[in-house]
Amino acid sequence: MIVAPAVVLVALLAGLAGWVIRGSVVRRDEGRLARAEHAAVEAERARAEAADQRLQAVIDAVPQGAVVYDRTGRPTMGNALGRRFIDARHRDALVELAARELVAAVSHNGAHAARRPVEPAGTPRMVVDVQARRLAGGGAIVLLEDTTERRRLEEVRRDFVANISHELRTPIGAIALLTETMVVEMSAAVTAPEPVLRLANRLHAEAVRVSRTIDDLLLLSRIENDEEPVREAVVVADALVEAIDRVAGAAHERHIEIRLDLADRAVRIRGDRRQLVSAVFNLLDNAVKYSDANSLVVLRTLPVDDEGNVAIEVEDRGIGIPARDLDRIFERFYRVDQARSRRTGGTGLGLSIVRHVAENHDGRITARSCEGEGSTFVLTLPADPRSRSGTVAATEVA
Ligand code: ADP
Repeated sequence: MIVAPAVVLVALLAGLAGWVIRGSVVRRDEGRLARAEHAAVEAERARAEAADQRLQAVIDAVPQGAVVYDRTGRPTMGNALGRRFIDARHRDALVELAARELVAAVSHNGAHAARRPVEPAGTPRMVVDVQARRLAGGGAIVLLEDTTERRRLEEVRRDFVANISHELRTPIGAIALLTETMVVEMSAAVTAPEPVLRLANRLHAEAVRVSRTIDDLLLLSRIENDEEPVREAVVVADALVEAIDRVAGAAHERHIEIRLDLADRAVRIRGDRRQLVSAVFNLLDNAVKYSDANSLVVLRTLPVDDEGNVAIEVEDRGIGIPARDLDRIFERFYRVDQARSRRTGGTGLGLSIVRHVAENHDGRITARSCEGEGSTFVLTLPADPRSRSGTVAATEVA
């Protein structure tokens, strides 16, 4: 079929016009798309900027130095105190080095948080407490606190308490011994008047109490000082059994059963075995002291949690602790009931000892209690990551 040239021409013109129109529609669409994309990018940038500003305001409000590190270990944000240590020179550079090491530790190891005091050599003395916490979504935040002055005052106080305890220990020990001899002699002599014997007994009991307080003060100052911390592998189960042995006599006297439940027999901590035994002993001793005769005390460990900590719980069904006192019982010499504590031979230092042991091991101690129903103390310590056997075991100790 032959098509007339005019028809071909019209068709060509129509095609060209269509192409031009389509082209301009596409360009208009592309332009719209580009503008929308740009607006979205801008909005995202503004949102991120606002979030950063909010985060910066929060960081500025932190009383310590604070620096945020990203997932590659690069500092990205900090407040004025924290920036002092970034790209620092001289002694401050050692603080930054410690911060980076702790960031690497919390980013790549199991631990969620890590803490270390840094004391660079030189004068004047400087101690900076460095702690890193892993952030959800990667990276870590480091808090830096200059604790030089606080530590100096603490040291003066600790030395004073340690010195005075040492000075008093010998004469008080002698008085306890002399009064004991007096009581024995008077009991043997039929002629000793009864009130004098009673007074001698009282004198002896008080001397023993003071002597016990001094022993606890010395133990507390040793634990507080902890200058060369022992960091050995301690099988938690073994330490708990040793603590039970130490309290078994008192528990037996009052017909109190101590039950041991272990979630994992093999779990270990890295620390000082004697301190751990001492802490658990103090918790058990209290559980026995503040329970009625014939009751039950449970000592248990929980499975290692997601943060790599093992919890050691001491649960009693004793007199309990009023809510208003719960925050204060870890202070030195704080007692809910002075008379009862004295009667039961308490020194008021047991829970301070526990708190210091927990702190020395980067752990914590908490308590929950209900008056008249009982108390549970939870000592949480970082577990040695290589020690988790996964085996479940339960033992009973009467
Ligand atoms: P104390 O030598 O007086 O027992 P602690 O420091 O061990 O001193 O405890 C402080 C106070 O906390 C105690 O005097 C007691 O009032 C209270 N307390 C501690 N443990 C228990 C417990 N398991 N049940 C009830 N009260 C407790």
